[in-house]
Amino acid sequence: MKKISVLGSTGSIGTSALDVITHLNNFKVIGLSANNNKSLLKKQSGKFKPEIIVVGSNGLKNIPLISKADVVLISVVGAAGLIPLINAIKLKKKIALANKEALVIAGDLITGLLKKYPAEIIPVDSEHSAIFQCIDGKNKEEISKIILTASGGPFRNYSKKNLSKVKVGDVLKHPTWKMGRKITVDSATMINKGFEVIEAHYLFEVPYQKIEVVIHPQSIVHSAVEFVDGSIIAQMSKTDMRLAIQYALTYPERKVSTVKKLDLSSVGKLEFFRFSAGNFPCFELAMTSAKIGGTMPAVLNAANEVAVKNFLEGKIRFLQIPKLIEKAMKKHRVKKNPNLEDILNADFETRKFVEELR
Ligand code: MN
Repeated sequence: MKKISVLGSTGSIGTSALDVITHLNNFKVIGLSANNNKSLLKKQSGKFKPEIIVVGSNGLKNIPLISKADVVLISVVGAAGLIPLINAIKLKKKIALANKEALVIAGDLITGLLKKYPAEIIPVDSEHSAIFQCIDGKNKEEISKIILTASGGPFRNYSKKNLSKVKVGDVLKHPTWKMGRKITVDSATMINKGFEVIEAHYLFEVPYQKIEVVIHPQSIVHSAVEFVDGSIIAQMSKTDMRLAIQYALTYPERKVSTVKKLDLSSVGKLEFFRFSAGNFPCFELAMTSAKIGGTMPAVLNAANEVAVKNFLEGKIRFLQIPKLIEKAMKKHRVKKNPNLEDILNADFETRKFVEELR
């Protein structure tokens, strides 16, 4: 039995992960953490009987939660995933990473640590799991392009006028994936795809000009890799996160899964369209922050987290999300080559600024 801690166990990925763990039957859950859903955490603890149970963002600083596990699944939402990720790297763990914001805000810091400590990150984000499976240990020099697919979200064909009228309920209806609330909003603004470009850049050490976003409304091809000889290898499956979670846990092996198999003849057609950021300023802001680098991606992320929270609470409109992010980025004075403290400061200051702005 391998020992596992699930950080963010009551969220969408966390609950799916516990399903997968039950099915695999070769993991012992030794740690669970949740942000605030105490009743579900209590239920999960009753079933899995972990040694360590923590609640709240301070709980994520708990060291035994990570040190006692062989595998750590980080499915915490937002910048809160950064500290446990750093600790897990320093403790040389096998890390199944579902949190993307940590790589967005501290990509250089994390890749630096990975050069120093022999930890291993296996991506859980469906696109990055696909890319990881397509690359399959091949030489980086053989990759000519990463093709990151995007469903385009519910508002792919909306005019700006229609976008201005979008309500919380419209946003929470993602066409192909069932996900947590924050990532569903991030998918609708397409900032999620911007985050994923940055995530892919750091995970696979591929320059930004070799990462292409392609619209694929069916969400069957979860991403693809083009190699120097012109071959494109893609990964396909049903839209069920349990597959990517399971692969991260069983890698390098594949095990029988409970996910329904994909029947290609019933899929019928797969479509691919060029992506234009036109209606999606959040995507452009993400790319701008990546180009500027330093503390700017941390500002982008913190402003987005506050804006999305306020949108979900009905306090701001959909199109105010990019406006708030832009204001925060304009105000920020970038610090190059930031250390952890610089990043956490930028995060803190931005949250305060955007809360007061609104
Ligand atoms: Mn994704």
